[in-house]
Amino acid sequence: MSDSCLFCRIVRKEIPAKIVMENEHVVAFRDIDPKAPTHVLVVPREHVATLDDARSAPMLGELMLAAAAIARDEGIVEGGYRAVVNCGANAGQTVFHVHLHLLGGRKLNWPPG
Ligand code: 5GP
Ligand code: ZN
Repeated sequence: MSDSCLFCRIVRKEIPAKIVMENEHVVAFRDIDPKAPTHVLVVPREHVATLDDARSAPMLGELMLAAAAIARDEGIVEGGYRAVVNCGANAGQTVFHVHLHLLGGRKLNWPPG
């Protein structure tokens, strides 16, 4: 837990967010600036700054499994979707509480910019 971390504050419901799913391990909410018709962020309840800091395979697995379950709920499985983690400056990470982006609902370009 971090007092000042934006996503810890969303996890604690001190800051409002459009939560789409939560369980004992993760909280998932809609990105405030969506880059696709479905753009959901999945975060662990526990504060871990980046993927490079993550040491828990169960925690990382819960992020991925939650993303796959949300994709089914959002109806984007047939069209296809992307689950991505930005780590550090070159990837454009701006919030230092590890999060998985679930993106779908449109054709996604590859490679990303
Ligand atoms: P990053 O660039 O670190 O991989 O992703 C951070 C994401 O958090 C961005 O897509 C950004 O739009 C989103 N974001 C930043 N602040 C907020 C907020 O207060 N609420 C929500 N729901 N998303 C946020
Ligand atoms: Zn945090």
